[in-house]
Amino acid sequence: MATTRRATKRKKLTKKPARSIRESDKDRSSRSKKILKGLHKLYPEAECALTHKSALQLLVSTILSAQCTDVRVNMVTPALFKRYKTAKDFANADQKDVEKLIQSTGFYRNKAKNIIGAGRVMTEKFGGKVPDTMDELLELPGVARKTANVILGTWFGKNEGFVVDTHIGRLAHRLHLTWRSRDSKDAVKIERDLMEVFPQKEWAYTGHALIWHGRQVCSARKPDCENCTLKALCPSAFSFD
Ligand code: SF4
Repeated sequence: MATTRRATKRKKLTKKPARSIRESDKDRSSRSKKILKGLHKLYPEAECALTHKSALQLLVSTILSAQCTDVRVNMVTPALFKRYKTAKDFANADQKDVEKLIQSTGFYRNKAKNIIGAGRVMTEKFGGKVPDTMDELLELPGVARKTANVILGTWFGKNEGFVVDTHIGRLAHRLHLTWRSRDSKDAVKIERDLMEVFPQKEWAYTGHALIWHGRQVCSARKPDCENCTLKALCPSAFSFD
């Protein structure tokens, strides 16, 4: 769910001075409806790219995805989930053993500590299950609002918030779907704006679709505006060098 650190070392994309865009709430709402329609057409099956078969697997994978690509996470989880199958298994896990299995995802000591800690809280407080409310999820070590939104939207089908990762932050800015945030890292304000422009029942889907579009067309370094089917709706189209 995040860019690799390698990406930050690459040459930065320069952007021409932002086109000023004056848009009423009504016009933004109408444009966002068209963007959503375009996303459905482009990515009818958009879903979470983290391989999982249970809420527990999705939770662990999402914790591992911090500062790591989904592809890398999907490479380490088969061995991890073969060894640890339940919240209790993780609660009783040996820290060094977990660290070894997840080492290539980066920040592995902290991630192992959080996964084991989350296993303990689920075992002691939630009957060994992944909780299905925002407040309860936030009690788990390593779980902040973004991770909780992934679990609620993707597994439980509850649209309580909007996942804002690096791709969504970037696209929200390029598509001018956020007006309160200062930059693409201002996740709290971006989430609030996206919750305003897209219908609640579409939040989880729209998050997945924007991530797919960010990966396949509107990448950080080389947005392919020429071939982007959203270009007529995008104020940033062709504004990069
Ligand atoms: S037109 Fe360009 S900047 Fe806008 S969404 Fe498409 S690829 Fe990204």
